[in-house]
Amino acid sequence: MTLPRHHPGEALLLDYASGLLAEPVALAIATHLACCPACRHAVAEMEAVGGALLDGLEPEPVAPGSLEAVMARLDRVDARFAAPPARPSRPAATPLFPEPLRRYAGADGRTLRWTPMVPGMSCAVVPVGGAGRSGGTAAKARLMRMRGNLPMPRHTHAGVEITVVLDGGFRDELGAFARGDLSFGDASIDHQPVADPEGCLCLSVTVGPLRLTGAVGRFLNPFLSF
Ligand SMILES: [Zn+2]
Repeated sequence: MTLPRHHPGEALLLDYASGLLAEPVALAIATHLACCPACRHAVAEMEAVGGALLDGLEPEPVAPGSLEAVMARLDRVDARFAAPPARPSRPAATPLFPEPLRRYAGADGRTLRWTPMVPGMSCAVVPVGGAGRSGGTAAKARLMRMRGNLPMPRHTHAGVEITVVLDGGFRDELGAFARGDLSFGDASIDHQPVADPEGCLCLSVTVGPLRLTGAVGRFLNPFLSF
């Protein structure tokens, strides 16, 4: 199997390990982790360090009711950490979608409602709860499907866009992206991904709107703002 070559930054992995990410963003990271032993290892180490730090804390007087509040919070964090799978993906036996994504989108996304955007390109909203808010805009998860060699609209990001390749691949100014690779886009990046000849299926999580900069931008904006 080919291991991913594009990874989330350490700060993003740390936020993931600490349970701080909105669920759609955590889903993108967990989907990458399912394909990436190196990042799984890094997250496991961060969790071990976090646990050791908590173990070393001196006990403090506890206000009435605070135990219930802490337990409720831990329950939520535990539910988050149930998502990443422990085993590496094996191409021969591996379903198209790794486990954390399968929970939300089925084995291959066929059951979701796909909306055509432009000829050769369609997308489907992945129903993820707990979108959270960052800068007043909720995080959203979508599957994007592009036919071979199709250039996506050139765009930049008012917020953040995290893309994880599930099948096929694409290339842009930052390099070539294949299954498991994670691309992180923000306001500093204005890019035009082009799908590989075999096409591309990817998970795209946006926090804040994309800002389209190419000629088709005005046409596509209504589709991207739902
Ligand atoms: Zn990785």
